[in-house]
Amino acid sequence: MDYINTVKGTHDVINDEAIAYQEIELAFREMADIYGYGEFKTPVMEYSKLFTRSVGESSDIVRKEMYEFLDKGGRSISLRPEFTASIVRAASNAKLFNTADLPIKAFYVGPAFRYERPQAGRYRQFYQLGLEALGERSPILDAEVIAFGYKFLQLLGFKNLKLKINTLGDDESKKNYKEAIKKYFAPHLEEMCSDCKERYELNPLRILDCKVPSDIEIVKNAPSMKEYLNESSKEYYAQILDVLNELQIVFEEDDSLVRGLDYYSDVVFEYHFYDENGKSIGALGAGGHYDKLIGELSGVNLDGVGLAFGLERLYSVLLENNLLPDLTHFLDLMVMPLSENEVPFAYMVCEYARDLGYKVDISYSPKSLKSQFKKAERKHAKFALIIGEEEIKNQEIVLKNMDTQVQEKISLEDLADELDKHLLSHGHCECGCEDDECHCEDDECSCHHHRKEE
Ligand code: AMP
Repeated sequence: MDYINTVKGTHDVINDEAIAYQEIELAFREMADIYGYGEFKTPVMEYSKLFTRSVGESSDIVRKEMYEFLDKGGRSISLRPEFTASIVRAASNAKLFNTADLPIKAFYVGPAFRYERPQAGRYRQFYQLGLEALGERSPILDAEVIAFGYKFLQLLGFKNLKLKINTLGDDESKKNYKEAIKKYFAPHLEEMCSDCKERYELNPLRILDCKVPSDIEIVKNAPSMKEYLNESSKEYYAQILDVLNELQIVFEEDDSLVRGLDYYSDVVFEYHFYDENGKSIGALGAGGHYDKLIGELSGVNLDGVGLAFGLERLYSVLLENNLLPDLTHFLDLMVMPLSENEVPFAYMVCEYARDLGYKVDISYSPKSLKSQFKKAERKHAKFALIIGEEEIKNQEIVLKNMDTQVQEKISLEDLADELDKHLLSHGHCECGCEDDECHCEDDECSCHHHRKEE
């Protein structure tokens, strides 16, 4: 059999993994809402020039990693390698820079595509969750975005986070620093890797990011970015760090952090998680400030700041470190017809219970009752409903508690009441909060924390 695999570097997300993705996404959406970010859904395809103009012709992404093709009309189209450019384009097309209150706060969730070498935590199609605050230059806003990411990771259960932070400074500082490192690297260039040779011409800052061990040694002695910051850039950065300190967000300044996208200026940051063995699969999320991008794409010169997380990395680190909540999908009821003859009737009962809002499944081609019970166990059913010829005749069915194994005959007429009695949440609130308004005995728990079935 010639099985067809997923395209190299892509992967299917199914069942438990899909549920986990949904949980992570939900947490992100809720937090974005709390912080006043609204959703932007932009097309997966964009004109290629959107990215050459924004992400930058000298970036690895545009030079080597774009899924770029000509459509049937001969237009150069690319699958988005990231979202920031699309969000800015969308805000510009909707004329928000002229009409909306600034900053425009947008969040997004969806797949991005980069032709990278697949490895752990690195795919060619991956999901990003991110946000952008467009149209304001404010150290508080930059700090807010950085804090958002940090708190989001804490909310997911991450501890011992490492937030790396740096500033590239404004245009003038960046220019001065570029000149300085070009001067420094020039005599070493011969012995450096071919990528660095290219970076030297296109974007010398990226040399600082090189992972080749012999190059790292050379990079170690390069002049520090800090020495080339002008006063206003220093001041702007210091204000961001002050806010983070005030918020008790622990960060580590990293002089070599430059990020791979050309549009960044001023603050850049990355969130890392190291397991007990000091292992990391790369940044869980990253972002930074940009001062030219909005002008470049919309003609309106405004600043912006944003961040993005990779869903695959979040999931795999949460999974490996046992930080995912119990995602078992419980079934309320497994309907078990005793033979093929009872299937149509049993199916009507099944739909009736579903209409009441219960999670119900049925054996469509019933085998022995024993095998149906085994299946119910595998599906984590809480109750079984057994329907045979006799039961239909008497309009009485058997409801069995899969946990206690206690079973009782109930009248079909009373099914709704019986299900409510046994299955309606007699939950208790797990939050342990001391909110007087938190009526944990009620169906609606006012503190909005998760309820657990008893
Ligand atoms: P970037 O857009 O490069 O700043 O990346 C932001 C985040 O997206 C990273 O921190 C990763 O979590 C994730 N990410 C970037 N590239 C990939 C990839 N090829 N595969 C999986 N996740 C990625």
